[in-house]
Amino acid sequence: MRYSFPYRISAVYVVAGFLWILFSDKAIHLIASDQEVLTQLQTYKGWFFILITGIILFFYTLREFRQRDRLTNELIDAKNRAVEADQLKTAFLANMSHEIRTPMNSILGFADLITQEGYSEEEKDRFKDIINEKGNELLHLINDIIDIAQIQEGQVKINPVAINITDLINEVYNSFKKHPLVKGKPHILFSKHIPHYKESLFVTADAYRLKQVFHNLLSNAFKYSDEGEVKFGFKQDHNQICFFVKDTGIGIPINIQHLIFERFNQKKYLHGKPEGGTGLGLPISKSIVELMGGELKFTTEEGHGSEFFFCMPLHQ
Ligand code: ADP
Repeated sequence: MRYSFPYRISAVYVVAGFLWILFSDKAIHLIASDQEVLTQLQTYKGWFFILITGIILFFYTLREFRQRDRLTNELIDAKNRAVEADQLKTAFLANMSHEIRTPMNSILGFADLITQEGYSEEEKDRFKDIINEKGNELLHLINDIIDIAQIQEGQVKINPVAINITDLINEVYNSFKKHPLVKGKPHILFSKHIPHYKESLFVTADAYRLKQVFHNLLSNAFKYSDEGEVKFGFKQDHNQICFFVKDTGIGIPINIQHLIFERFNQKKYLHGKPEGGTGLGLPISKSIVELMGGELKFTTEEGHGSEFFFCMPLHQ
């Protein structure tokens, strides 16, 4: 392959030269017999051959070089992408080890304090709460890491069942209002939106995974809001149900909007990591929604808030 170009170009030159000498000699002998005219024609023939082969070789070499340039550029692009992916993974691992160490250190530290003398029962209860909270954080993180690995391998399975949407929203609301993120920001109004329908509405989805998506989106809504309200629920749009999670938080700057669904991309933290974060929540949610046949989208305005939403067909 590496040497094919010189072989090809030499072959073209030799074959073209051979054919030219063979046929052009015959041709000029057909049109002229005078020795002087023949000599003249031989000279023109030589010039003509040089001119034509020169042009052919020029365009042939040009095409070859262009092809090589394109291949080289493709290789450089592929190499740059591989290097970037490698750097992203290294940065991701460094961030992840930080995210694991932080709750782990709290757990170990407070577990140690509980066994020590000199703390009141009230203080020990607080230490237990912290251990509990940090333990849950760690569990959540480990689940996220397993999820993202399974998503990457295409191993996440969805168990679709008919889900009563009103029950689901109520369940998510009742469980999430006890979440430390909600308790930590009591000034933010947390509410659910369930339209008043006579009959119950159902979607076909995986209840566990759907709750996981709400959990991720609601966590973000609280993490990236300092005031105002967080509202979630659903609306009916003809034959489909559109779920939404809306906040009045800091919004997402335009320069990172195209990154927020990307895995391992630390640049999406450009507008700060208020409560820490792994950058896994949105990529996982997006993949889960897609596995259930929807598409996770958002609208946002910097300084005013964001709304994440996805639609699913109504279960008939
Ligand atoms: P994490 O929240 O752990 O950083 P996510 O994947 O959930 O990771 O979110 C990725 C990024 O998208 C966040 O770091 C943040 O920059 C941005 N983001 C997500 N949700 C919101 C939101 N509701 N308001 C503002 N920014 C958000």
